[in-house]
Amino acid sequence: MSIISDFNDEEKEKVLEDLTSNVKQIQDDLLKEILTLNSGTEYLQSFLHGSSSKELFKKNLPIVTYKDVKPYFDRVANGESSDVISALPITNVFVSSGTSGGANKILPSNNKFLDGYAFSNDLLVHIISKHVKGVERGKGMIFSLTGHETKTPGGLPIESSTSWYLKSDYFKNRPSNWFYSFTSPDEVMLGSDIKQNLYCHLLCGLVQRDEVMRIGSTFASGMVRVIKVLQDSWKELCSNIRSGYLSEWITDSGCRNAVSMVLGGQPRPNLSDEIESICSQKSWKGIMKKLWPQTKYIEAIITGSMAQYVPTLNHYCDDLPLVSTTYASSESIFGINTYPLCKPEDISYTLMPNISYFEFIPVEEGSDDVVDLADVKLGCSYQLLITNLWGLYRMRIGDMLKVTGFHNKAPQFRFMGRENTLLSIDTDRTNEEYLFKALNRATLVLESSDLRLVAFTSYADISSSPGHYVIYLEVKAKNEDIRDLKFDEKTFLECCLVMEDSFDDEYRYCRSNEFVGPLEIRVVNDGSFDSLMNLSISKGTSVNQYKTPTCITSEKGVQVLETNVVARFFTLSIKPNHSM
Ligand code: AMP
Repeated sequence: MSIISDFNDEEKEKVLEDLTSNVKQIQDDLLKEILTLNSGTEYLQSFLHGSSSKELFKKNLPIVTYKDVKPYFDRVANGESSDVISALPITNVFVSSGTSGGANKILPSNNKFLDGYAFSNDLLVHIISKHVKGVERGKGMIFSLTGHETKTPGGLPIESSTSWYLKSDYFKNRPSNWFYSFTSPDEVMLGSDIKQNLYCHLLCGLVQRDEVMRIGSTFASGMVRVIKVLQDSWKELCSNIRSGYLSEWITDSGCRNAVSMVLGGQPRPNLSDEIESICSQKSWKGIMKKLWPQTKYIEAIITGSMAQYVPTLNHYCDDLPLVSTTYASSESIFGINTYPLCKPEDISYTLMPNISYFEFIPVEEGSDDVVDLADVKLGCSYQLLITNLWGLYRMRIGDMLKVTGFHNKAPQFRFMGRENTLLSIDTDRTNEEYLFKALNRATLVLESSDLRLVAFTSYADISSSPGHYVIYLEVKAKNEDIRDLKFDEKTFLECCLVMEDSFDDEYRYCRSNEFVGPLEIRVVNDGSFDSLMNLSISKGTSVNQYKTPTCITSEKGVQVLETNVVARFFTLSIKPNHSM
């Protein structure tokens, strides 16, 4: 993979053109490189017997799930030589959040992953500056966080991919352009206390509020969390800005020293007054734009399970574009959005053919031939498989993608959801795609009643017979003056109905035969989903990677929500508890 950070715009455009025009050749060359390099590994040797032929790869190598290859990963993590799976040394183990699809996974990795990460960032620098004029004139207030590192029994560091990148030389020696210029000193990103780090990120961003051109967090859920911290701490932030000194509870020494330098002991009473007068306004609609008036866009992943946060972000950010740049995982960087200013519902990602070798299993029945990236068809849906330079071969990622178009010859994919069934009571099998469809329709019903969806999750309740689907919803009034929210039965009944109506024929068959009971909406208190996130983070999930589970399986998580239920509505009968 070439290093393109020093290229000028014209050269970077050429790289993008080449990448997207020569998909087949680049993918075939990459597969050849992977197989030639790794043919002697124990894993490949057992299927390919030293060959690096594509034909043999397609014929002999099994398509696997994470569970199938976990024993190999465990051996490397426990101290055996990397060449069980990879010719290049495995230097790191990533822990994937797993919150969107089950248990946490541990995945082998090495610098090749970061090459892909840095490469896609460098392309994004070019793409975004092409679309967002003037973005290079200021800084980014980017809420990057590191979190704790542990070690495998064999001594390999275990952390999230984002953490590793921030601690690596790639970040330390990053190119000096607008994309890598931040309001926060590196120490704020590298600290290990999330509460302190988020507070300091905000403080640095407020002090330099006129320089902020973009605001970002990896996932939309992280951005919503930032806004909550702002709501809880703006008075204290203002007092720090007024005095020029940082609150005593910021004890992380690296972070404390670096932020104290930003404040410089200089009192800023005028700035503090301005921020105070904005934050004390009754309505926080558009607050981000008011506090950071030069901001050109908000950067966060808003597709898949993150789509539920779009109404909340639109509320606080007003008409600022929401830019969802990257589709990636702990397994690999997959693709980037080459049209960053498109509407949320039009977001697609162009897979980068030089980062990993991609294959696709068609979702449509009757077509089970695995196809290459260059052979996917417009309008068809696929499950993604990955083969890469750091020990993964034909592994299912668990995501479903639909081809929506092409950038030159490179297919663009819409993220449809995780492939696994989420909810199932009888022979019904409801996956994320259907759940999102149902939720989109319910969101419209809520909006027509002046309510805004804050967060949701689902649960298959089989404690009574027949079992039924439960949808937990946290909602707010669009008009923030309304604190004493009344839950209109008609609205929620309508939500139940449109949701059930969105599920597939099998679900409806089960419902009409009473194999599945009426869908239930349980409305939960303000802040319940924050408590759920805190629970997950307390168990070691990185805050950067946390995703609200679209289906909740953990008993403790269900308990958190259950203690906060304030109203219940069923498709056929309505049983409100009381109103907030
Ligand atoms: P993790 O390995 O914990 O970072 O989780 C990776 C998973 O997050 C992917 O396999 C997707 O299911 C989801 N994900 C990552 N990027 C996006 C995106 N841009 N849109 C939707 N889902 C995403």
